[in-house]
Order: sequence, then C-alpha cells, then structure tokens
Amino acid sequence: MADRTPMIAGNWKMYKTVPEAIESARKLAELMLPEPAGVEVMIAPAFPALYPVGQIISESCVRLGAQNMYWEAEGAFTGEVAPGMLVSSGCSHVILGHSERRQFFGETDQTINRKISATLKNNLTPVFCIGETNDEREQNKTFSVLDKQMEMGLLGFSAEALDPLVLAYEPVWAIGTGKTATSEQAQEVHAYLRQWVEKKFGNTLAKSIRILYGGSVKPDNIRGLMAMPDIDGALVGGASLDPESFARIVRY
Ligand code: PEP
Repeated sequence: MADRTPMIAGNWKMYKTVPEAIESARKLAELMLPEPAGVEVMIAPAFPALYPVGQIISESCVRLGAQNMYWEAEGAFTGEVAPGMLVSSGCSHVILGHSERRQFFGETDQTINRKISATLKNNLTPVFCIGETNDEREQNKTFSVLDKQMEMGLLGFSAEALDPLVLAYEPVWAIGTGKTATSEQAQEVHAYLRQWVEKKFGNTLAKSIRILYGGSVKPDNIRGLMAMPDIDGALVGGASLDPESFARIVRY
C-alpha cells in the first residue's frame, strides 16, 4: 500500500460560540499530548472562531481549516470570505463542496471547481467533499453521481496541481443520521474513486491521494473503517464537537 498519512478532520459546522470554540480547542490541544504519531489532525470551526482557535492550537499538532470560502481575492462580495483572509487567520485547509452547502446554499460543481482552484493558488489544502443521496443510492446512481461530481469539480486541473487535494467521500444519507456506511460499502466507493483518479490523472496521484470517509463516524466505528485499504481517514461532524470523543477517533 502507498505511504499515505491518515487524516482525521473535525467539521464543527455551525456549532459553538467563540468562547465555546476556544474552550474546546484548549481541551483538544491538551488531549493531543503526547502527539499521536502518524496521523494528521485538523479541525474546522466556524469563521468567527478561526483566528482565536488558530492561536490556541498553533503549538499543537492540530491544523486549522475553514468550512467554506469564496474564490475572489477581495472585493465587493458582502458576506464572503477570501482565501487570503483564511491564510491570515491561520488556516491551512478548507472544506469545499460539503453536502450541506450544496443542499442549502446553492453550491454547484462549477462553484466548487472555482473554489478548489483558488485554494490551490493560495497554498490552502482543499478537502473536496462528494457523495450521493439516499434516493440516488437506491436508484443505483451512486457511481454516476460521483463521476459527475469528480469530473466537474476537478475540471481543468493537472495531476501535479491536485497533489495537495484531499477527497472526502460523504454519502449524504450517512451525514448526521447515525447511519454509517459499513466499512465494506465505504471501501467499495473509495476503491472506485481511486481507480477513477488513476484513469483520469494517472497512477502517481491515485496512489498518493488521501480519500477520507465521512458520515456518522464515531469512536466505536473508526477502527473498522480505517482497516480498509482505500480509507485514509475521516471527516467527522457530530462526534468532533466533543474533544474527548474526537481525540478517541484520532487515537483509533
Ligand atoms: C460532516 O458534517 O461532514 C459529517 C460527516 O457529519 P457527521 O459525522 O455528523 O455525520
């Protein structure tokens, strides 16, 4: 198997006030001592908490991510946040294309593509989320839906440009529902995605790209998922809100 460093990422969604986020970040930084070996850890608080949380975790092994971003460098785009603003807040990662953004905020494959491009130009690591809904799975459309999200989201990039990209397979039916895909279901899709990357971008990227699983990951199911050859980590929502449970997932 290729030498891919596993990654455990926490998506705090629209939870935690700034003081609560600071408190959770402090606890998490403590729980990350001694530093877990051979795993990359990232948390993505809401925008207002990014800078203070970044200050707290700056000496720890925990990296900072945002949950969204706009692609322009600056300008009259009320309510949006630019890549450089995230970098100056301490971010190294940005979650893009999360299904909640696609579902509630009109995010499309095209806008996600532009955002991925902007992250790569700004030395931010995109965590690019894709996944099918329950209806799509029931209608046997899982792979065609993923094909389209991958094709459009990654349109126009070279394999070299995509080197930092992290993929996150998040079946929509498993997000926040308590219904996890079985390790085998997730592995089937991860293997498919890796083959897709190989066909489109070649063997080097296919071997090195990290594909995270997301959807009701908990301390008690992480081990089974991580035992799968093509699952390189997890994007964790609900269970990342409690530092203790997130730390247990990191130390699976
Ligand atoms: C997510 O928001 O990316 C997610 C996977 O949520 P949860 O772990 O709560 O299902």
